[in-house]
Amino acid sequence: CGIVGYVGSATPSTRPLDVALEGLGRLEYRGYDSAGVALVAPGRDEVAVAKKAGKLVNLRTALVESPLPQATAAIGHTRWATHGAPSDLNAHPHVALDGRLAVIHNGIIENFFSLRSELLEAGVQFVSETDTEVAAHLLAAQYERCGDLTEAMRVVAQRLEGTFTLLAVHADHPDTVVGARHDSPLVVGLGDGENFLGSDVAAFIAHTREALELGQDQIATITPNAVTVTDFEGQVVTPKHYTVDWDA
Ligand code: GLU
Repeated sequence: CGIVGYVGSATPSTRPLDVALEGLGRLEYRGYDSAGVALVAPGRDEVAVAKKAGKLVNLRTALVESPLPQATAAIGHTRWATHGAPSDLNAHPHVALDGRLAVIHNGIIENFFSLRSELLEAGVQFVSETDTEVAAHLLAAQYERCGDLTEAMRVVAQRLEGTFTLLAVHADHPDTVVGARHDSPLVVGLGDGENFLGSDVAAFIAHTREALELGQDQIATITPNAVTVTDFEGQVVTPKHYTVDWDA
């Protein structure tokens, strides 16, 4: 159960994937049963996804056998299954919008059953047994309505009950990662022409010690040169800046 987000590679490179895998490695101590990554790059119609049950080495091996294209942003996840067995299919990221949107989640969506019923009635097809997949489809529906990933995340965050750190990327926004938190941790790491998200600072400590502490019920939108934090009502908030002072 760990989360990493990265944006910053000006032209597609291996750095987003490298940062995501390195961060997931540092979060391994928290325990997990599956791991996955999603990458976005300009000019690509779909998010590139790789995910595997088991240890990070399984994901690394899969990435050697079937390499993903170079990217400008990445999200990475280690899963501790609560809904649905540990399997490649139930591993995160979960995708929607024909592969254009990808979501990762730590926590539990308590009202997933009623949300799933609503989505099934609307004709959505589910491929996993996770509670998380409802968040992916809700975000997709909302994004289709407003065309703004942060705004869509805000609306979805207000509909979810339970605990969540949620990160999303969209193929049309290869310079953006959006993250939301409710009763679950999320920290921003500040780089030079690159920015990070992590479920704890270990996710990005190899790259920066400058961090922003998010409050409860906040959303962070990171691009290579900007970080915007808002509450679930859309009000801009100024998060606390601090320097991480432990040894990596
Ligand atoms: N509840 C989600 C699942 O079972 C996320 C679990 C986690 O925190 O990793 O897939």
